[in-house]
Amino acid sequence: MTASNPASVVPSIHDRFAAVRQRIAQTCVEVRRDPASVILTAVSKTQPSEALEAALATGQRVFGENRVQEAQAHWAERRAALPDLELRLIGPLQTNKAVEAVELFDVIETLDREKLASALAAAMQKTGRRPRVLVQVNTGAEPQKAGVLPADADALIAAARDVHGLTVEGLMCIPPADEAPDPHFKMLGEIAARNGLSVLSMGMSGDYEAAIRSGATHVRVGSALFGERNTPLKPS
Ligand SMILES: *Cc1c(COP(=O)(O)O)cnc(C)c1O
Repeated sequence: MTASNPASVVPSIHDRFAAVRQRIAQTCVEVRRDPASVILTAVSKTQPSEALEAALATGQRVFGENRVQEAQAHWAERRAALPDLELRLIGPLQTNKAVEAVELFDVIETLDREKLASALAAAMQKTGRRPRVLVQVNTGAEPQKAGVLPADADALIAAARDVHGLTVEGLMCIPPADEAPDPHFKMLGEIAARNGLSVLSMGMSGDYEAAIRSGATHVRVGSALFGERNTPLKPS
């Protein structure tokens, strides 16, 4: 490999994981939070096998995926050898995939309607597995985006818990791409607080430090760890 080969100047996955973890820790110090209170969810959607292996080699065990089928391809075989693996579904879920999702994932972050709460409860009954659940809130009320509207969040949380018996442990949001994220992070924190929820999944590659300052407990980072999707990095 010559010095002019672009691959030789792209940071490796190993280096990127170290840099992101360092920035998370640094941000926690700045806002006087315990660094252990922020979990890095590595978003491994679209990544090739070598990238997953490189991430695992850094010790990473918490992964986010946005499609059930791709997540099965990535993790179904690997997970047998990885008892501490935690898989989090961060993409929209159709009710007809509820059983497969419940079988694979440890946390489903995208509950956004009562029909899905009901399908998840039935899938849990059927499989005997009980993944924890986050409610996704469409904080920007964007028509094209998944998530319950902020005004309907309290009712969905209550129904998911009390009617369907789900373990709702927190909230997730994806702020509008063209707005400052802070007001959205703040709103998510307020909805969580008034519903007694402790988990806040918010912040991606572009805004995870801001999310940590606003109280995120889980940041979902993809491209900052793995490079731009569809531009594979050298794995180590
Ligand atoms: C893809 C994705 C991410 C990661 O996005 P990056 O900008 O690559 O860090 C986070 N959350 C969700 C819901 C995603 O679909």
